[in-house]
Amino acid sequence: MVAKIINGFKISKKIQKKIKNEIDKRKKKGLSIPGLAVILVGNNNSSKIYVKNKKIACNKVGFFSKIFKFSKKISEKKIINLIKKLNKNKLIHGILIQLPLPKKINTLKILKKISYKKDVDGFHPFNIGLLCQRQPNLRSCTPFGILQLLKKKKIKMKGLNALIIGASNIVGRPMMLELLLAGCTTTVAHRFTKNLYQYVKNADLIIIAIGKPNFLNGKFIKKGAIIIDVGINRLKNGKIVGDVDFNSNYKKASYITPVPGGVGPMTVTSLLQNTLYACKKYYDKKIL
Ligand code: NAD
Repeated sequence: MVAKIINGFKISKKIQKKIKNEIDKRKKKGLSIPGLAVILVGNNNSSKIYVKNKKIACNKVGFFSKIFKFSKKISEKKIINLIKKLNKNKLIHGILIQLPLPKKINTLKILKKISYKKDVDGFHPFNIGLLCQRQPNLRSCTPFGILQLLKKKKIKMKGLNALIIGASNIVGRPMMLELLLAGCTTTVAHRFTKNLYQYVKNADLIIIAIGKPNFLNGKFIKKGAIIIDVGINRLKNGKIVGDVDFNSNYKKASYITPVPGGVGPMTVTSLLQNTLYACKKYYDKKIL
């Protein structure tokens, strides 16, 4: 048995095409164009690439976007003042702070200053709280993207034994809420989990986001498991790999996402969907 590869690039492209068509129609009708503001602090090379890709994606679908770049020396107060202005700006429907922020900045304090109506990364406590209570609003991009990949493949989620490896605020925790909402029996493992492979061998669906190259070997997984690789790790030779050892898992899984080309493109697409949703819900007031 070899796994079916879930092609995130292809699925993303289709969704982005639909978004572009919708924007073209909005332009013809004279409706507002979704606007995204991205705040980038410091000099992290990966962050710069992610921000550039988000800008390119916005241009492709016809969104307005603006990047605000700051040195790592900027104060929390200055970032908060900018957020306050953007919260009121009628051309901006989504605000994104590229993470990680420099250590001296209190990330949660900053994220809370973004209006929950413009929280297109889905990290605001209000939006996370809504998801927790089964009322998803603006949803964290990577978990929401993964849900859409599984949906596109018509994978029946109800009752699956799902294992998330990694419990970060941006992936593991919102992923847990999404999988519960989808009806999975959900386990979250993290760096303090004892005997991880006891959970791995029983899982029908594994989503891994720990930032460790090729960590998950296929010999431990259940035959036919669905393997979703969130990790993005750059090796010394420049190659990008995930947290999953692709070849050993490919031989045993039923579905697998590649890195690159799996979850990554869907994260950007979810961001576009969220920005359009925020524009329609809170600006057009169309989906209320
Ligand atoms: P993080 O460092 O904030 O969290 C890592 C988590 O993994 C922690 O909960 C930690 O307890 C857990 N962990 C570490 N070692 C472990 C081990 N041996 N066993 C079990 N759990 C372990 O990381 P993050 O920000 O969630 O990112 C994780 C990875 O996902 C990174 O490679 C990152 O680049 C990638 N990422 C990709 C996307 C995407 O769109 N594809 C989005 C976000 C993050």
